[in-house]
Amino acid sequence: MRVGIIGGGQLARMLALAGYPLGLEFTVLDPAQDACASVLCEHICAPYDDPNALSQLAEKCDVITYEFENVSLEALEVLAETTAIRPPLTALAKSRDRLKEKTLFQELEIPTPRFLAIDSHQDLETAPKILGWPFVLKTRQFGYDGKGQHVIHHRKDMEDAWNSLQGQPLIAESFIPFQREVSIIGVRNAHGQIIFYPLSENVHKNGILHTSRCRLGDSQTRPAEVLATRLLDRLDYVGVLALELFEINGRLLANEMAPRVHNSGHWTIEGAETSQFENHLRAILDLPLGTTEAVKHTAMVNFISVLPEPTDVLELPGVHLHTYGKTERPGRKVGHATIRAADNKILDIRLHHLLALLP
Ligand code: AMP
Repeated sequence: MRVGIIGGGQLARMLALAGYPLGLEFTVLDPAQDACASVLCEHICAPYDDPNALSQLAEKCDVITYEFENVSLEALEVLAETTAIRPPLTALAKSRDRLKEKTLFQELEIPTPRFLAIDSHQDLETAPKILGWPFVLKTRQFGYDGKGQHVIHHRKDMEDAWNSLQGQPLIAESFIPFQREVSIIGVRNAHGQIIFYPLSENVHKNGILHTSRCRLGDSQTRPAEVLATRLLDRLDYVGVLALELFEINGRLLANEMAPRVHNSGHWTIEGAETSQFENHLRAILDLPLGTTEAVKHTAMVNFISVLPEPTDVLELPGVHLHTYGKTERPGRKVGHATIRAADNKILDIRLHHLLALLP
């Protein structure tokens, strides 16, 4: 069977690495000549919304999936008439627009920070009256890794943010002084079976995920699963979905969802019985899902902008290095390492050594 992936970045690359042992083949669509999945997959080098390229992809593949949200929905809707696209486009339509996403959270009684649509400078003037200071101004679309968002502490920030973001549809949200960020990653198949990975605890730096740690037996696991189940069922979802949440004073507030494999689930490659990548493929191809149990205590560290010296990383016990074959560039994810240990104390020590290698 051949899987088509829209986007040929590291997520596509890791999907292919998980799929080859299952006998699967892959074609990616990506406009970049050097898309990092292209060394492993057949590569259609064309814009994501190129109708000829999309129909070529559909002809070749049994199912089409996507590795990022900023895909042209209109182009995929045409394709969906003749080809299986999983996860469903309704999930994509919600997740690529923060206003629609948060409105869906509200409908499903999934707690989320207070928010309001900002369509004019007048709306922005209203925001601090409703949300208080500080608040966060974000673009509704095309934001990722903290791009297109500003924390607004006072009036001067407000004008600066407006000057840089105006002209795009915006959303303002309450600033949440959370104690921690977590994500729950679930997988649902076409028959409605849902399974979850253990909760991930995530640390972001400058809006980009820095580390994720699998938290076995965390008391927020079940509450997070309950919230994610509402989404998975409402969207009649097929595949892996990640729900990112803030924890504040024992409560969970949903920040965003990703209808795809997620960076906070990279630890599952070596840390779980079946990785998120393999389970995504199993779900979209209607194969039995694999157990999501953790095999050890595991953490993942992203390499952003530059890769540490591989030999230094590989010298550490319990470490697994993943490089993405991407040119180093500021703010770019160029690789990650997973680190495992039999208990949390040893994991702390190993993680400390790994973090010390980062520039
Ligand atoms: P996002 O692109 O929405 O995932 O935001 C990236 C990161 O910015 C999040 O992981 C948080 O660390 C921070 N952030 C986003 N929204 C808020 C908020 N409303 N309150 C506090 N921090 C936020």
